[in-house]
Amino acid sequence: MPTIKKIPATITAVSDTTPTARVVTLTLSEPLPFVAGAFVNMFISHEGKVLRRAFSISSSDKEDKTIELTVRLSPNGAVSPLFWKEDIIGTTVEVMGPLGLNTADKMLQSKTFLFGFGVGAGVVKSLAEHFVQDPNCTELTIMLGSRNEDEIVHLKEVTELATSPKVTVRHAISNPGDHNTHPVGYIQNHLEGFDFNNADVYVCGQEAACEALVEAVKKQNPQNCLYFVEGFH
Ligand SMILES: Cc1cc2nc3c(=O)[nH]c(=O)nc-3n(C[C@H](O)[C@H](O)[C@H](O)COP(=O)(O)OP(=O)(O)OC[C@H]3O[C@@H](n4cnc5c(N)ncnc54)[C@H](O)[C@@H]3O)c2cc1C
Repeated sequence: MPTIKKIPATITAVSDTTPTARVVTLTLSEPLPFVAGAFVNMFISHEGKVLRRAFSISSSDKEDKTIELTVRLSPNGAVSPLFWKEDIIGTTVEVMGPLGLNTADKMLQSKTFLFGFGVGAGVVKSLAEHFVQDPNCTELTIMLGSRNEDEIVHLKEVTELATSPKVTVRHAISNPGDHNTHPVGYIQNHLEGFDFNNADVYVCGQEAACEALVEAVKKQNPQNCLYFVEGFH
């Protein structure tokens, strides 16, 4: 288990992955070894107060001096809009981590399902990058649930991961636009063909969505199926 530290970090880049989700790059003052699936608490000063928010690490656990967080804009929120400000680059924050129990080192079965709702795709990407390199993992299924086809977070990276022969990628779109080609509905409406026996099932996103999906998987009564649920609240 990596040591938990609280260290200064500088926001050195931001880039959009969808119209409402952004990758925030943090250059850390010292290495922060972590295992994919971990999150950090970020402390950021704003209007004389220090605000704390949790963000999952969305970059690969092979790199521990620079980490990326994938953040959804909550327009009325206190912290997430700060990452959309013009002068955010160069801002110093503190990060505490790595935190969380739902990390790749706990997922030991050879068959793994990674389900991400919305911005939960960030940590799914980090986990997928880990398992693609892990010879113990022989079957990796990634499924992302997104509002519409323009809001598929990390679509490019996840599509690239699908070039590995052990990786299957699927999408579910809840509120499709005119050019959608993916199945319509929530992830839990499209579990056909999945065999959850002897599998690790990781689910990440808003808590209510995670719970609904886990219930749907449990209805299939899979044997030896372990659940790893990371609810964003
Ligand atoms: C373990 C964990 C991991 C997480 N990982 C991620 C991640 O990887 N990416 C990510 O984007 N988020 C993640 N989150 C969520 C994140 O911590 C924040 O909760 C989120 O970014 C919103 O923070 P905020 O300060 O912008 O909004 P807050 O100020 O906390 O507001 C929360 C919500 O309330 C609404 N709100 C606030 N004030 C008002 C008001 N006056 N009237 C109406 N509505 C209002 C806001 O619009 C927002 O939707 C994670 C949470 C947890 C617990």
